[in-house]
Amino acid sequence: METIIRKYDSEAPDASVMEEAGKILRAGGLVAFPTETVYGLGGDALNPQASEKIYAAKGRPSDNPLIVHIADLQALQVLTSRIPDRARVLADRFWPGPLTMIMPKSDVVPRQTTGGLDTVAIRMPSDPTAYELIRSSGVYIAAPSANTSGRPSPTLARHVAEDLSGRIDMIIDGGRCDIGLESTIVDLTGDIPVILRPGYITKEMLEEAVGRVDIDRAVTASRPDPNLRPKAPGMKYRHYAPRGSLTVVQGSREAVAAKINSLVKEKQARGKRCAVIASEENMRLYQAERIMDIGSRRHEESIAANLYDILREMDEEDIDFIYSESFTGEGLGFAIMNRLLKAAGHQIIQL
Ligand code: AMP
Ligand code: MG
Repeated sequence: METIIRKYDSEAPDASVMEEAGKILRAGGLVAFPTETVYGLGGDALNPQASEKIYAAKGRPSDNPLIVHIADLQALQVLTSRIPDRARVLADRFWPGPLTMIMPKSDVVPRQTTGGLDTVAIRMPSDPTAYELIRSSGVYIAAPSANTSGRPSPTLARHVAEDLSGRIDMIIDGGRCDIGLESTIVDLTGDIPVILRPGYITKEMLEEAVGRVDIDRAVTASRPDPNLRPKAPGMKYRHYAPRGSLTVVQGSREAVAAKINSLVKEKQARGKRCAVIASEENMRLYQAERIMDIGSRRHEESIAANLYDILREMDEEDIDFIYSESFTGEGLGFAIMNRLLKAAGHQIIQL
């Protein structure tokens, strides 16, 4: 199949792009599109064959459910069997935006879309291109990240094309995604809301709106525990990973730099290609053939936005060993560290 790639600028909208994409979605085809988090691989959430195509295109295990993207609150009446009170409060506060809520599903949502579960994950994106696609197509769009399963999520249309060209009908190129990390996922089916995946919307932000919120143990576990059955099935799979070996080094600024420099020296002496992922503030402390500026510690948004692009670049440059600084673990830093440690397969050196 040839993949159509069309540029779309939400400030100078070209309706023909949306018409073409809408036609494909209504016919059960697949369209990748930008959102404020990462690019999504979209299909009609109520069409089981479309969901099956999404799994096939990504090489995604079929028990890893998809997020359904909506453009208006009325969709909740159609997609859920019950709207928890807290979901209304959180929707009012954070939608449209980077928050996914798990609710009991209605009968119209096929199990192919929910990975066999009785619950459905729903999000209303704020990105104007995503919004316009959902609205104008008239389709509730099931969309996981538009990458090959296991690779870093795509934050540019080029990343989507690298992974899925020839396997999907269309890519809408809307430029770079603002946030660059996947949405926060919160499960609202129990008495206390539980964060299944951290993201831009933090625990503190959620608690301010609805009181106590817990974090699933599988999120905080230092390594995947085969005995823990994560509620977000996606959490049990290796994710976001570059092909080279990635290690996160944690400690004081000077100790981290000294350790990474000595590791790089040792690996280079054996003819290996090495790269360092450093914050803008610390770049000059390192000696390596590639030193990647991931952004400023004073603006963690910049670090979130660059992370996946940098991990992909490591593959393009055939880097064997990657050493990364560690980040705060507070606020957005918690989501950044969650993705970084997963990408590293939890290889961490604590100094
Ligand atoms: P992705 O869109 O690729 O970021 O993946 C979607 C994530 O949402 C996966 O980690 C899923 O496990 C999670 N998810 C989707 N639906 C549900 C659900 N009904 N219950 C729990 N987690 C879900
Ligand atoms: Mg994904």
